[in-house]
Amino acid sequence: MATQSAAKVERTDAKTLVAQPVTPYAPATHQQRMDYLRTIFKELELKKVRFPRRVAMKLEHNIAKSSSKVIYPKNIRNLVADIRADKFSKANQEKVKQENRQKEAALKVRYKEELEKLIIPTYLLESNHYAVGLVVPKPVGDDYVTSCERCGIKFQPGNSRTQSTCVYHWARLPYDLATKKRSNVYPCCSERVGESSGCSRLDKHVYKLTESQNLAAVIPFVMAPTTSIASSSNPDNPLFAAGIDCEMAYTTYGTELIRVTVVDWDTGHTVLDRTVSPLGEIVDLNTHFSGIADINAGVTIDGKHYPTISFNEARNLLFKFVSAQTILIGHGLENDLNTLRLLHTQVVDTAIRYPTLNEKRKHSLKSLAHTYLGRTIQTGEHDSAEDALAAMDIVKANIKKTIGHIQ
Ligand SMILES: [Zn+2]
Ligand SMILES: [Zn+2]
Repeated sequence: MATQSAAKVERTDAKTLVAQPVTPYAPATHQQRMDYLRTIFKELELKKVRFPRRVAMKLEHNIAKSSSKVIYPKNIRNLVADIRADKFSKANQEKVKQENRQKEAALKVRYKEELEKLIIPTYLLESNHYAVGLVVPKPVGDDYVTSCERCGIKFQPGNSRTQSTCVYHWARLPYDLATKKRSNVYPCCSERVGESSGCSRLDKHVYKLTESQNLAAVIPFVMAPTTSIASSSNPDNPLFAAGIDCEMAYTTYGTELIRVTVVDWDTGHTVLDRTVSPLGEIVDLNTHFSGIADINAGVTIDGKHYPTISFNEARNLLFKFVSAQTILIGHGLENDLNTLRLLHTQVVDTAIRYPTLNEKRKHSLKSLAHTYLGRTIQTGEHDSAEDALAAMDIVKANIKKTIGHIQ
């Protein structure tokens, strides 16, 4: 009884076989295609492939779409030969899937091996203003004189009498990749260099502490914990490698962290993205670059709201994903790591790693993304996740080239 009903189903199956339309030109008449389709269906049935009708229609359609009149019968014959050779059997499909999974895992390991070769030597990190060893705190003192990051005027951050109105252009002069020249027109207001001292005003000048010792006097530097990194047995451990990007604001302490974003190397997913309250009084949130207009607003990701947290909370969260062994990838990462007060030596910095031949000049992330990925980034406000991902993808694109050369 069961056999009879099965046979009935199969017969119905065969009757509903239809060659799917191909535009603009089919490689054979409808009748010819139907004959081939029935052959494919019968062969699949013989091999007990699941859903033979659906599979037959799909396979024939794929060939019809991509074949000329001349090649179509040959491709169909090859397909029939493949079916007879068990290429479409369930067991074989499982085997192919398994092989693909193994290949993918092996490739991931290969990329990790290549990434480790790109870690910047410690002496190069040091000469690029990374803090890698013990930093003895040294406060700048009230008589500390510095230049305004925006207008260049000399002032004393600790002395309010030296403050005055800062007149500046908020946008930087763009570098033209085609002409290899810096533009002489400010994008913020379209004014030419020399025509005006600035289109924006603020009642205070802004500054940045660059010396590690001075930074350490505000918040001490620490190393990430030495927790072993994630593995198949400990998937919740810190990441093998991560893209990292921070946004900073101007405060009474110079520049401080206001947003930290971490992207997983393996998945490309953002695993941490939080806004952070600075310790000092905010002078300017640098909204045009940081993208943050209100420090208390927090961030909303995929419909979930994350409130603004303190610096210590942010760094503790960071250590869930970053251990001393985690390879951190970013562009000009010394700024980010100094802002996080993180002593770290496992770093792949795209600004140090990818200057072009015979050129000492560091390239912007925007220009590297354009060169290596054909991707346009930073069209508006900076997006930390976009920047962190771009730096990682630049590294991946270069590894892909390297592996390609070896194989
Ligand atoms: Zn301007
Ligand atoms: Zn100024």
